[in-house]
Amino acid sequence: MQKSSLKVGVDVPWVTSWTGEAILGVRPCPSVGGALAIAQQDSPGTGKPLYSQNHAVRQRLTIGRMLCPMCGLPTVADDRWTQVAHPVTAGTLRNGRHVEGLPASVTNDQVLIDAGAIAPLHRACVDRSLQHCPHLKADPKIDIRRFSERWLVLPLLVRAQAAPQLFLARARPPRAVAVIGFLQLVGLTDDRDPAWQGRLAAGRTEI
Ligand SMILES: [Zn+2]
Repeated sequence: MQKSSLKVGVDVPWVTSWTGEAILGVRPCPSVGGALAIAQQDSPGTGKPLYSQNHAVRQRLTIGRMLCPMCGLPTVADDRWTQVAHPVTAGTLRNGRHVEGLPASVTNDQVLIDAGAIAPLHRACVDRSLQHCPHLKADPKIDIRRFSERWLVLPLLVRAQAAPQLFLARARPPRAVAVIGFLQLVGLTDDRDPAWQGRLAAGRTEI
């Protein structure tokens, strides 16, 4: 497959997946301390960029090691910015989409900054991405804010199914195991929202 003339980390975010990077199945992965995770070929810049898809391993590295998803370099405490993260109570997160591993010490009224699967960026990279991407600039959810100084990393688990072993005299049933797909990031704050349950019941998740 052809090498692209687009530059990784400049024209295309570092975390973006390319058509030349096949999914390799499930393997122990150093990006999550050797736990079972989705593996993917590592060849950014090969083929065409898949702007709407994150690369499985690079995505986990951005969250696990606080690397900027745009340029791939580490971010430091005073230069971590999010574009679409929003405040949400822990109770709302627990009641909504599937969140694994939110510790019991985080109470339901605690306000978290839900960054989803997107690690914070350098401010210069935020500005550059808004300049280069008109869709992003037009997105009403864009809300540039500093990321929290404390955070939690939560695995987004997927079910991987091992194929039945039909070559055996007695076919074994397929086995499904939970493996890590992407990592999610939530920032911690000291804020509380005692009205979170009423808000949730009314179908309003924003604070
Ligand atoms: Zn950057």
